[in-house]
Amino acid sequence: MSGERNDAVSPSASKIIKGKVSEQESHVVAKPLKDHRRHFNDAEREAILLLSGGVCEICGDNLTDDWQPDHKLAFARGGITAVENGQACCKSCNQKKGAR
Ligand SMILES: [Zn+2]
Repeated sequence: MSGERNDAVSPSASKIIKGKVSEQESHVVAKPLKDHRRHFNDAEREAILLLSGGVCEICGDNLTDDWQPDHKLAFARGGITAVENGQACCKSCNQKKGAR
């Protein structure tokens, strides 16, 4: 009853076990697709600001230099750091959100 566990190994895993995967190759395979920055970069900030039309997307106030890019879907809830998940917020709205 206990000798059948080897069949549970997935094809790709058994390939790695059997085959001689080079050090480099296995490194690539093991590396997860992870570009999960929390902060928007300059290009993204610029795009978000353009898309916002220069107003806070929460309260509608005109944005000043201290506006802040924010995640529509919170980063902590799996929201990605990308223009499509970004919105421009005035500083006070961003702080209110953060305080929640
Ligand atoms: Zn606001």
